[in-house]
Amino acid sequence: AAKAAGRGRVHRFVPSMRTQADDRLQLEADLREAIGTDQIRVAYQPIVSTTSGRLASLEALARWDPPVRGPISPAEFIPIAEETGLIDDLGRQVLRMACRELAGHLNDPRLDDRWALSVNVSAAQLRRPEVAAQFAEDVRAAEVPTGRVILEVTESVLLDADAVHSLVALRAEGFRLAADDFGKGESSIGQLMRFPLDVLKIDMSLLRMSREAGEGSETTVMESVTMLGHALGAVVVAEGVETEADLVLAQNAGCDHAQGWLFDRPVPVLALDRMLRERALVADREMTSPIVS
Ligand code: C2E
Ligand code: MG
Ligand code: MG
Ligand code: MG
Repeated sequence: AAKAAGRGRVHRFVPSMRTQADDRLQLEADLREAIGTDQIRVAYQPIVSTTSGRLASLEALARWDPPVRGPISPAEFIPIAEETGLIDDLGRQVLRMACRELAGHLNDPRLDDRWALSVNVSAAQLRRPEVAAQFAEDVRAAEVPTGRVILEVTESVLLDADAVHSLVALRAEGFRLAADDFGKGESSIGQLMRFPLDVLKIDMSLLRMSREAGEGSETTVMESVTMLGHALGAVVVAEGVETEADLVLAQNAGCDHAQGWLFDRPVPVLALDRMLRERALVADREMTSPIVS
């Protein structure tokens, strides 16, 4: 790094070597500050019908872009937020911001009048008994009906008794529930069966696996999981659809919806209107596969 900094640059030595623990503590302090000062933003990624290309839902994804350091991935800061308890505030900010930013689009004539907002929720948030009432209040405060909001939880949440208790309460408030990243962790089909599931999102690793399985068997894994989802009465989403071949695979497997870079990357709220307009145009055309803009 010293060489890369270039010739003529003066080196400064800090009194002690920074350790990984120092970095982690600094990141934690910065995250706390970012949440306290409303620096967390939301990016939106469409989830579309595999047959019509219409918008089925928009997934809200937390974004943190500190001024000097540059953007930090949720894969890095969400686990920190979960371990420190910051996830309660962060998650609530994301839910409220997404509802505020999307409320005006709920009845957008260009869009399907049943399209939903999808928000990720961590197990740690669901362990608090007041979470269902709080979410319902936050969503209604933005004049969004709870039935237009899908809460995405990973499979491990379904193994956590306190969290499941909250999920049942959230569903009673009218929220819809999605199993996120299905097939990635320890799946418990038994748990899934006892769970009131509206949406099953197949983890992109299964799509990659199907893609690499070779001719003749490429839809087997995706198809089986899709059938499982349908047997549970859920709408099935293929995650990580990056190419037209991926989309064809998802279509052949019977997936109802698809999400991925083939359609759109997650976009900031400023680009949302353009994205929705383009999506509406794509969907208005006579649909044949592939359904890309
Ligand atoms: P997720 O909920 O499974 O979200 C989908 C992730 O896949 C997003 O990553 C998205 O940008 C990425 N993605 C979408 N399409 C493609 C594709 O075609 N190819 C590939 N390779 N990736 C694609 P992102 O935004 O980095 O978020 C990562 C994870 O962080 C999320 O995974 C979710 O588990 C968590 N997360 C993000 N925002 C929140 C939040 O507000 N609350 C909580 N609790 N977790 C969040
Ligand atoms: Mg998700
Ligand atoms: Mg996912
Ligand atoms: Mg994921």
